[in-house]
Amino acid sequence: MTNATDSEPFQPVTIDSSRLASPLADETAALDVGANNIVAATTSTGKQLLYGGRDLFDRFRETTREIARLQSKLHEGRYSSNRIRRLYRRRTKRRDHAQDALARDLMERLHAEGVSTVYVGALTDVLEASWSVRANAKTHNFWAFRRFVDRLACTAEEFGITVEVRSEAWTSRECPNCGSTDRTTRHKDTLTCECGFDGHADLTASETFLRRHSDTAVSRPMARPVRFEWDDHEWSESPRSLRPKEARTNPQVASVGGR
Ligand SMILES: [Zn+2]
Repeated sequence: MTNATDSEPFQPVTIDSSRLASPLADETAALDVGANNIVAATTSTGKQLLYGGRDLFDRFRETTREIARLQSKLHEGRYSSNRIRRLYRRRTKRRDHAQDALARDLMERLHAEGVSTVYVGALTDVLEASWSVRANAKTHNFWAFRRFVDRLACTAEEFGITVEVRSEAWTSRECPNCGSTDRTTRHKDTLTCECGFDGHADLTASETFLRRHSDTAVSRPMARPVRFEWDDHEWSESPRSLRPKEARTNPQVASVGGR
């Protein structure tokens, strides 16, 4: 990839990707990749982004069920059919499309924030003990984690952003308030702690993860998180924005069970 050259007086109207090939500043971001939310991101500039995955996952499961139904109707000795193969292809295509678009949307935003390094942590919520092995396998299949991380890295490269995959063991259950990992309870999207902390589980995980890998990170105040939803074409800001309670620390009531 070529470096941006300042000496060039004018660029043609087409978007020149080399123009973007260097970071605008030296900020950091950490991503929590999961199932309920595909990506929860926190940046050292205090931004939080959440890419919802529930609808996509539901559709993926629907197609999987339909494939199973068709397979059960196959005549003996047959293992597939054109219809089944078509459903497999459609299922994969839909997932890939959403993942690719996510990688681009996210990297554009991170680049604009001046991010130069992105830490990616692996699948906290699908590794939770509460998930059955079967659910794990299915989720794994859906998220195709390795493919997604590859795609993130490729897209990041266009913007001069470096992607580093790191273990984020325990970040998903660590309380950002008191640092405890055994006094917290996760219920759906909410992480609560006996100390009174109550916040969005995945966003909190990405924030803790970022703090671990960046010295200066998260000293700045956090803006209200932005949630994005996939509509089969693009990721757009959801009108279902996060309520402050879902989003940020409110150390008053440890409401067991969340909202
Ligand atoms: Zn706590």
